[in-house]
Parts: sequence; structure tokens; C-alpha cells
Amino acid sequence: MSDSALQLLNSIFGYASFRGNQQAIIERVSGGGDALVLMPTGGGKSLCYQIPALLRPGTAIIVSPLIALMQDQVEALHQLGIEAAFLNSSLDAMAQREVEQRLRAGDLKLLYVAPERLLTGRFLDLLEQTEVSLFAIDEAHCVSQWGHDFRPEYRQLTILHERFPQVPRIALTATADAPTRREIIERLGLGSAESFIASFDRPNIRYSVVEKDNPRRQLKDFLLGRHGESGIVYCLSRNKVEATATALVEDGFQALPYHAGMDAAQRAANQKRFLREDGIVMVATIAFGMGIDKPDVRFVAHLDLPKSLEGYYQETGRAGRDGLPSEAWMTYGLADVVTLSQFIARSEAGEERKRVERSKLNALIGYAESTGCRRRQLLSYFGETPPERCGNCDNCLDPPSTWDATVAAQKALSCVYRTGQRFGVKHLIDVLRGVDGEKVGKFDHDRLSTFGIGAEFDDRQWSAIFRQLVAAGFLVPDDEGYGTLRLADASRAVLRGEVEVRMRHVADRVERKARQKSS
Ligand code: ADP
Ligand code: ZN
Repeated sequence: MSDSALQLLNSIFGYASFRGNQQAIIERVSGGGDALVLMPTGGGKSLCYQIPALLRPGTAIIVSPLIALMQDQVEALHQLGIEAAFLNSSLDAMAQREVEQRLRAGDLKLLYVAPERLLTGRFLDLLEQTEVSLFAIDEAHCVSQWGHDFRPEYRQLTILHERFPQVPRIALTATADAPTRREIIERLGLGSAESFIASFDRPNIRYSVVEKDNPRRQLKDFLLGRHGESGIVYCLSRNKVEATATALVEDGFQALPYHAGMDAAQRAANQKRFLREDGIVMVATIAFGMGIDKPDVRFVAHLDLPKSLEGYYQETGRAGRDGLPSEAWMTYGLADVVTLSQFIARSEAGEERKRVERSKLNALIGYAESTGCRRRQLLSYFGETPPERCGNCDNCLDPPSTWDATVAAQKALSCVYRTGQRFGVKHLIDVLRGVDGEKVGKFDHDRLSTFGIGAEFDDRQWSAIFRQLVAAGFLVPDDEGYGTLRLADASRAVLRGEVEVRMRHVADRVERKARQKSS
């Protein structure tokens, strides 16, 4: 049977050999078994159901939330001479009836359907009268409420198994962390599916993180010499998208904004330009990118912390699909951590969900603060056991040095304590440095024993110390949104001198770069 799969690969798709575990997946599904496929974007998931669809009698039903992608895929299949169609809200009533007609007549090898369409009683009845070869559930992570692509309709897809128990199912996703995987298996009733997990490594992407200092200037430095390259710059807010796009245009880049608050036509036009033209920088919120398939995206930059490591990996995975060297770059500062902590604290979600979100945020902070290999950090989060060093991330290429920050940590923590655990970083630094800041006089904080005990560091160094104390879980930002810090239980051991605190050298890399440039 795999002979005929290979023949189809050669003769119809024009490829010489299967990639990774494509062949095993195709054998499993063609033979009538269920499969869960975890493969990075660009890994070649489509063939995993397209070839079984051709090998098995009947019509394959592909569930996809991405209307634009359906059209592209169907067009591509037509060009290969394969009978395929899609059903979604973009079709008028007549076109829909025509597709249904072809389905009933058994003319289609593949039919792409939006989940809400698939789940209508009418369509399910239609399927009863059809020979279905397999169900493919694309973007299967949409079933997970923890991700930002959650689609409630995906939860109802178990009906496929209930009504068509003999039809094999293949669920596919590029989101790979263990909780999401478990949720897909549980929510889609895929207990008897064989899992196929490809390595998520994207060796051509170079990961780096810089301490947020002056993000606009830092972005400019990063983009130096990148004129003419296609790339994506992600920001958290719509305002920042607009402002950043404008600034980049002023710097001579062909930058376009993209966010959900824009007029739909303008948004679509910008997306089209990004896909069709060379050298466009798309400045966007995370509303942009799902299903975007552009091979030569050279960089993905994050001006704000993404929501989770899965999100980050998916967003940066849009770079370098052509396999050529590409960059995933991010700026990161304490304010990001505070903002995201507040998002979580203030959300309406229940305690359980908040707990999950907090642990996701911590994983992300761990990545940003890591002094070891970034790739290793990412891949181990996705359950892989990568080598110690990748040689293609900032920390591997330019290892950060660390220092014994125990005394500095003790000073910072006692300053938080002495000021009553109700101030933000700016004021805390004023007290530590003995600066007569706006609140110092008002609260008589110049009389505290901690006033002026930290004159050895400047503002920037202290702010990096506070950030790392938050990242390490010694300080906790408040829930109300004032940016105030309080002590976590873990900080007691530091104050008592029972643990050593090591931190990366502040602005180490930035300063070294500056030195290199001037020498
Ligand atoms: P995914 O859905 O996992 O993001 P696709 O199915 O769109 O990935 O495949 C990404 C690209 O790789 C496509 O251009 C596809 O034609 C190509 N591809 C897939 N499998 C193979 C293969 N075995 N050999 C060569 N190219 C392949
Ligand atoms: Zn590395």
C-alpha cells in the first residue's frame, strides 16, 4: 500500500520522497486508523490526509476554521487534477447547492468544510447518504480553551465519531505542548488514535531576546540593514500597531498596520500586499497570521511579550518557511510581565484557568530570562529533549555572564518590605538610590533604613534586578493594576541569606555590542 502512496506522491504531487513521519501517518489513516499529528507549520501536514483521501474510496471531509486557506488548498488541488471543493460562508446559496450535489453524486475526493457548517443537522444528514473516506480535523488545537484560537464548535466535533464510528479521523495541529495535546485527545475522543509527533525544531530560525529599554530604537537597530525583507512586527495593542507602523514608514520601511479594529477591506488589502509583494513589514496584533503561508518571511519581531510560549512559537514559526536563515526577536521588560499578570488577575476566568494561565506566563518569563540556550528552552517546553546548545540563538552565540546578586536582591526586597509593599518600581528605585523623587518626601521615605543603600547601581540596573526578582518569583505584581510589588513567600529565604541569587549581567549584551561598534 505504501508503494501506491509513494506513487501518488511522485506522480501527482511531484515530490521524490516523504518527509519525517508522513509515510507512517498516511499508512495509519489509509488503513482505517485514527491519528493525531503534531507537526510544525510548513512540516507537510496536508499530504497526511490528502494522500489517504486519494487512496480510500469516498470523499474526505476536512474541517478547517480558515476560510482563506480552504480556497488556496482547493485551488492547488484543482491544479493537480484532483476533484475538491469547499463549503463555507463565502459561497452563495447556489454555489453551495452545487457543491452538495457533487458530494451526493460522489464526485469529490476532498471537501473542505467550516466547523459551523459541518455541524448543521442538514449537512450531517447529507453525510449519512455519502461515502466518507475520512475526517481530517485541521488546526485541532482550536478545541483548546487555553489557546487564543479557541473555537467552541470544535468541542462538538465528537459527533463525527458518534455518528460515523467506522470512519477514520486524523487531527492535525502545529501547537504541541502537552496540555493542549491532552485536551485534543480528550475533547475530540481520540483515545485510540496513534500520535505522531514531529520535532518542532526550526533550525534556521535564530532566537534572541533583548531587555526592553527604548523599544522603538531597539527595533530600529534590529531592522538595520533589513530594508527590502519581509517581516512581521507584533504589538499588543492597536494603538501601538498604528504608531509603530507610522514610525517605520518614517524610517523608510514599507510598513503596513493590521489589527482587528481596522476596516475589514483595508485589513484584507494590507494582508494581500504582504503576501504578494516583497519587502513589506506587517505591524500587527496577533489577529494577523493564522493560516498565513508566505515562505520568505525573514523575521518576526515582538515588541511586547506574547501571551504564551505556544503562541510565541506559532507566531515566530511564520518566519523562514523556505528554510533560509531567519530571525525571531523579542524585547522584554518588567512592564510586560506586570501587564500580562494583570490581564490574568482581572479576567473573569475561574481560579483553575487563572492558575493555568499563570503557569503559562511563567514559562514565557523563564524563556525571556533564560541564560541558557533559547531553543533548548522552547523545545523542552514542547516535550522534546534537545541538545544542551543549539549554536543559533543569542545565548549560544554570545553567552551571558551571571553575577552573584544576593546582596542586591536583599536590598531590593527589604526596600519593598520597608515601604509597605505598596509601591511600584520607579519609587522603589528612588528610595534605593537615595533620590529625592516625587513620592519620597511625601511618604518620608528618606528616613527609611533602605534609603540610599543602593547607590552603586543606576536606574536601568535596578530595574533589571527588579525584573529578574519578579521573574524568579521573589516579588509579585499586584492584581489591581497599579504596578506595585509585594514579597512572595520565597523571598524570605533570600532575606535570611539562605539562598544565593544569580542574575545575568545587566545590559551586558547591549553594552558589549556598543563597545564592539565603537572599537
Ligand atoms: P503545514 O500544513 O504542515 O503547514 P503544508 O502541508 O502546507 O504544511 O506543507 C508545506 C510545504 O511543504 C508545501 O509547499 C508542501 O507542498 C511541501 N511538502 C509537503 N510534503 C513534502 C514532501 N514530502 N516533499 C517535498 N515537499 C513537501
Ligand atoms: Zn541556543
